Amino acid sequence: MRLDLQTFTDNLHSVQKRITDTATRAGRDPAEIRLMAVTKTFPPAYIEVARQAGLTLFGENRVQEAQEKYQTLVTAPDLELHLIGHLQRNKAKIAASLFLCVQSIDKLQTAEALNRHCAEIGRTMDILLELNTSGEASKFGFNEAEELWRVCGEIASLDSLRIRGVMTVGPFTADRDRIRRAFADLRDCLDGLRSRFPELPLDTLSMGMSGDFEIAVEEGATCIRLGTILFGSRGEVDE
Ligand SMILES: *Cc1c(COP(=O)(O)O)cnc(C)c1O
Repeated sequence: MRLDLQTFTDNLHSVQKRITDTATRAGRDPAEIRLMAVTKTFPPAYIEVARQAGLTLFGENRVQEAQEKYQTLVTAPDLELHLIGHLQRNKAKIAASLFLCVQSIDKLQTAEALNRHCAEIGRTMDILLELNTSGEASKFGFNEAEELWRVCGEIASLDSLRIRGVMTVGPFTADRDRIRRAFADLRDCLDGLRSRFPELPLDTLSMGMSGDFEIAVEEGATCIRLGTILFGSRGEVDE
């Protein structure tokens, strides 16, 4: 695998143009949409290229892999690393010191463990609650918005965590209408959260990947998570 800065910059500019065009058509301000570079399975050299191109927001979906690749980078003032994959409770301690935000909270117990480890090292962590909008059993997340709202009430009392919004992985399908419904469901879930918890700083709607980010932008995404469209194919290790 090889990636040069020019190729990456070309990919980035074409994606940015699509985001801007889509947002503008949808009557949205493109500036309210953050672009995350998802570097899972890609080597550290790819992270460097993305940083040279000016990106600052990065996502990984495994704690161990993130630790190996980002350990020396997480203290960089211009780098923000988020966990976007399932967090096991026994990895909460490492996660507390590694990530600025965990986007994939799907259980009260995981949030409690993360809260405890954040408190131990005297930090506050931003989190998102993950909703399974696809109904696919292989995906993580709360299965119903009602369940997410209920657990949010309990997580909100954990002092070292700050709930910023919700996240989902759209259904794996070519059916654009189904994808749109899933993203609309997540937006409705965030709206419901806002009306139930007006005191929380709920500003983040994380949805959309390489194949469906334009639909996500149309449906209100404020964070889109892009891997292959920026870096190229993940090949054998794709997931
Ligand atoms: C891999 C991954 C992405 C990026 O997927 P691409 O299709 O490569 O853009 C986004 N979000 C999550 C949770 C992922 O695991």
